[in-house]
Amino acid sequence: EAPAAGAGSWRRFSPEMDVRWQESRLLEAALRIAVAEEQFELHYQPQVALPGGHLTGFEALIRWRHPERGLLTPACFLPMAERLGLMRRIGTWVLREACRAAAAWPAPLRVAVNISPAQFEEDSLPAAVDAALADSGLPPERLELEVTETVLLATGDAALAQLLALRGRGVGIAMDDFGTGHSSLTQLRAFPFDRLKIDRSFVKDLPAGGDALAIVRAVTGLGRSLGIAVTAEGVETQAQVQELLREGCDAAQGFLFGRPVPGSDVPAVIGALAAA
Ligand code: C2E
Ligand code: MG
Ligand code: MG
Ligand code: MG
Repeated sequence: EAPAAGAGSWRRFSPEMDVRWQESRLLEAALRIAVAEEQFELHYQPQVALPGGHLTGFEALIRWRHPERGLLTPACFLPMAERLGLMRRIGTWVLREACRAAAAWPAPLRVAVNISPAQFEEDSLPAAVDAALADSGLPPERLELEVTETVLLATGDAALAQLLALRGRGVGIAMDDFGTGHSSLTQLRAFPFDRLKIDRSFVKDLPAGGDALAIVRAVTGLGRSLGIAVTAEGVETQAQVQELLREGCDAAQGFLFGRPVPGSDVPAVIGALAAA
């Protein structure tokens, strides 16, 4: 008989929990294989300048081509990859693949790459970026790194020093999901960002939402006075664009301009947006 360690603290493993546990062990094993076999691909979402909407580049977004389940989005496997300590390897692959792809695009189109906390470990980010640039021949000015404030909080000064070194070589640095963390403004003082990306949660509620508008207005104002470009994420409607234009937002990204597409479709997107 199990010892009574307080009423209700002893729970049997339910069959459903058991199944879920087994499924996640299976997914972990599959993810380790995926890393070894590079079963990933990057999809690219257009980024445009406002006003005018001319194409300035693409954000690289990772997908896992799972042998049975098909294409999986980052939310399905990146948290697990972080937990298993696989994120640095994946991140290095992403950097190489994104730079290789972008080097084939017409200049001056840029590629934006998301960076996770693990990539700052052992001060390894500058070397990983250098290798990706050198192998692809992509000029550093055509690469932008996107970091969230959560990343900066988790990694601290060591991350800032690495980003500063990369910025010195001409690589752009953007703060992603701006406004969702707890220390956005502190981070802004600590590091000379080239770009702020207003999180989709604020853009989503334009033009109706009073609070969302106030925040968008504050961020674009901040960008203007600090000389930092401001991109709106998750733009889906023309009405949102009108509102963003009124607030003086520099750039936009979202389904209105284009969904993420496989690398092979990028030339068609370049053609379509150039003709628009
Ligand atoms: P993020 O960097 O903020 O990327 C934007 C996400 O919003 C993407 O989701 C994109 O598909 C989605 N999105 C863009 N426009 C719209 C829109 O108009 N409406 C809606 N509903 N969604 C839109 P995705 O591809 O699922 O990526 C989610 C997150 O996963 C990214 O957020 C980023 O934090 C992370 N991520 C993606 N790729 C990588 C990677 O290669 N490395 C790392 N470390 N993180 C990555
Ligand atoms: Mg991003
Ligand atoms: Mg974002
Ligand atoms: Mg976001």
